[in-house]
Amino acid sequence: MTTLSAYAQVQLSALAASHQRRVMQESACEGTHLLRDGVQYLSFSGNDYLGLAQHPNVRAEAEAALRQYGAGAGASRLVTGNHPLYAPLEEALAASKQAEAALVFGSGYLANIGTIPALVGAKDIIFADKLVHACLLDGAQLSGASLKRFRHNDLAHLDVLLTEHRSQYKNALILVDHVYSMDGDIAPLDALSALARAHDAWLMVDDAHGLGMVKSDVPVDVWMGTLSKSAGSYGGYVIASQAVIDLLVNRARSVVFSTGLPPASCAAALAALNTIAREPERGQRALAHARNFAAALQLPEPQSAIVPLILGTEEAALAASEALKAQSILAVAIRPPTVPVGTARLRFTFSAAHSEAEVEQLIAAVTCAGLVRRTCAA
Ligand SMILES: *Cc1c(COP(=O)(O)O)cnc(C)c1O
Repeated sequence: MTTLSAYAQVQLSALAASHQRRVMQESACEGTHLLRDGVQYLSFSGNDYLGLAQHPNVRAEAEAALRQYGAGAGASRLVTGNHPLYAPLEEALAASKQAEAALVFGSGYLANIGTIPALVGAKDIIFADKLVHACLLDGAQLSGASLKRFRHNDLAHLDVLLTEHRSQYKNALILVDHVYSMDGDIAPLDALSALARAHDAWLMVDDAHGLGMVKSDVPVDVWMGTLSKSAGSYGGYVIASQAVIDLLVNRARSVVFSTGLPPASCAAALAALNTIAREPERGQRALAHARNFAAALQLPEPQSAIVPLILGTEEAALAASEALKAQSILAVAIRPPTVPVGTARLRFTFSAAHSEAEVEQLIAAVTCAGLVRRTCAA
């Protein structure tokens, strides 16, 4: 064994010992079901909240783009990869927030790690919510700016940090998620926007789990999001003023030094955005499923299609996931470092594609697995 392989083995053993080792499992999607190891599971773990990844129109547009423009973009967008499907997609994104412009990136992750370092640097400071998504923190680190974390959704704490530190830096950027990915709760954008203004800070909001699900017309300097979740495709985006977008085209290294998206991904995303605009009831349906589920199990009322059931230890979360699998239901255990230590959980996500009967099936399975205090009917 090489020393590198030996090193990898030691690291993997340590992860396994703390129940944190992860493996990928092949999952073939069939509507709301997944096929894993030859077993069919009803899934409550995806992020395709509106059921658009499998939508006939979305597929058809992707197929047409593949036929017309080929499989790949062939180069970065600044060279020859800026194919004709980018412009309508970026126009639709900008229009969705009544903003001047938008820029599509290779993924949401690439959008965050490209945008943050393009806007702030060593003389600047970033204030980030304790629970923001990992890729905002990766972007913050790449930027070289100072970083302060404020307690989750705690504006008084953010105010204290801004008051204490803001004046020693040139520019300041506040980073929050719109809908928190592992808890499903929502950032108080109105108050955040006012606080940002009061302290001469810019506000950047990650809308990865909000698109098509939770509306907001609060003025925000930078909206960021993904085309890979409720838009059912792949890619990321930033919506901002024309000047900010033009700066990103020049400075965001994940745009400048990375190949454009496949035309089919852009076409699928545009078809999905059009469907979201035409059929706003899709988001309502996913939210209603989440609320019915939470109400039946006496969990707090969800503000999005994400409902956490916090179990504590990694072992407890893994055991709960296994207990549901035994009832043909897939709810993946979420463990540290994705969530704070001691808050390992099942994260249930609901989709417009789920039926009422499927949600009932989940309620019965969670109850009969003994995960909540409620009498099992079976
Ligand atoms: C998934 C996610 C991203 C990354 O988006 P991808 O398109 O999957 O790379 C960014 N932010 C949040 C909050 C996310 O949940």
